Amino acid sequence: MKDNHSQTIAAIATPPGKGGVAIVRVSGVLCQSICEKILGQKLTPRYAHYLPFQNNKSRTIDQGIAIFFNSPNSFTGEDVLELQGHGGPVIMDMLLEEVLACGAVLAKPGEFSERAFHNNKLDLAQAEAISDLIESGSRQAAISALRSLSGVFSEKVHELVKKVIYLRVYVEAAIDFPEEEIDFLNDGKIAKQTEEISSYLSRLLKNAEQGLLLKEGMKVVIAGKPNAGKSSLLNQLSGKDSAIVTDIAGTTRDVLTEQINIDGLPLHIVDTAGLRKAKDKVEQIGIERAIREIESANRVLLMVDATEEQTLDINNEIQNLLGVDVQLPSVTLIKNKIDLTQQSPDYQNNDDDPVIHLSASTGEGVGLLKKHLKDCVGFDASESGVFMARRRHINALKKAQLHIASGFEQLQTYSAGELLAEELKMAQDALNEITGEFTSDDLLGEIFTSFCIGK
Ligand code: GDP
Repeated sequence: MKDNHSQTIAAIATPPGKGGVAIVRVSGVLCQSICEKILGQKLTPRYAHYLPFQNNKSRTIDQGIAIFFNSPNSFTGEDVLELQGHGGPVIMDMLLEEVLACGAVLAKPGEFSERAFHNNKLDLAQAEAISDLIESGSRQAAISALRSLSGVFSEKVHELVKKVIYLRVYVEAAIDFPEEEIDFLNDGKIAKQTEEISSYLSRLLKNAEQGLLLKEGMKVVIAGKPNAGKSSLLNQLSGKDSAIVTDIAGTTRDVLTEQINIDGLPLHIVDTAGLRKAKDKVEQIGIERAIREIESANRVLLMVDATEEQTLDINNEIQNLLGVDVQLPSVTLIKNKIDLTQQSPDYQNNDDDPVIHLSASTGEGVGLLKKHLKDCVGFDASESGVFMARRRHINALKKAQLHIASGFEQLQTYSAGELLAEELKMAQDALNEITGEFTSDDLLGEIFTSFCIGK
């Protein structure tokens, strides 16, 4: 990257607001001189010093703990200073100002992690895991992010890269010595190794996809006619009264989103305006928003009142009501109010058309729905090998998978060893993008600027 790593950077590393303690973090060559100016002395590395923090007029602005980490034994690999003061925004601003007056510059978002990456303290997947750990919305997400941060994902990627390199070397040697009596390209060894790499890659992809689910979750839209029980279901799933439940049709006029998690799987549940010919402009806008939500969902729960005869085709329903063509995701039909029809909770899935009978009022059958939602995305809370992953990691793994498959096909169909070697190289580059060995500056910039300041 083009950033100037000779500059010393500083930022408040703790969140804004008031708290017991807050930290100003500094990284770069000026750390020791900043210690001398603000703390009046150089610090012994890795010792907690309790000292007054002074401004340039020798006036004490706070007192607290200062810790100095000398290069390369620090988070960034550079000299690092942490000033832990009292957690008030004014105190922290004054302290940061003093540090900047000593010659440090304000750190950009993610710049500490970026320096750690450039100084080989972390690879890219690990640096991303720091951000994911901080952002994690469930225990499972946090555990997985920590696994990625400690290098579990990166090790597996490296293992895979090693296998690809081994195969490349074999293929390239076979191309270079065509006069050898044994036909190395077709002796079955390449097929065996390719098979091994493919199955390793598939397993890795599966775990990474689970990790992505933990990070991004699943968007579920509850749709249906007014009074079908949509708001009641949202409240039942979220365990609180987020949506207003009344028997007056058209109560939910806007979209309402709740974030919940089922055994660690984050769900973004959206309750939408009831689908009917709107009586006024506000309701009309609500219905249009509902349609946009439906189009971007992973799954729609189409709710119908089991006590009434219903049109069961949501597409027809929406088009009849609004005359627009809607691109629909997968739909689960929810037959609600079974407490009134005396039916039992039930789940059926014939021809991939799931139907669940439940009662949003009593909660009967809601467990079946939760299980169904987990099953839809292949979520397994007991999966122990899961690590946090991002969409770009999944894309890179899929790219590598395609290159390997297409390379092997070239070999089988045309005995084209050169093409296989080329595809293997591209697979290797795709895998290296995950850990950052083969990554463009633009991508690095994009990744690190999405971090917070102080990270
Ligand atoms: P929405 O308009 O689709 O959001 O529907 P609401 O959740 O506001 O519910 C409409 C009415 O149906 C309210 O009076 C609810 O109490 C009632 N209701 C919702 N679900 C059930 C159910 O499972 N059983 C019974 N008996 N009533 C329900």
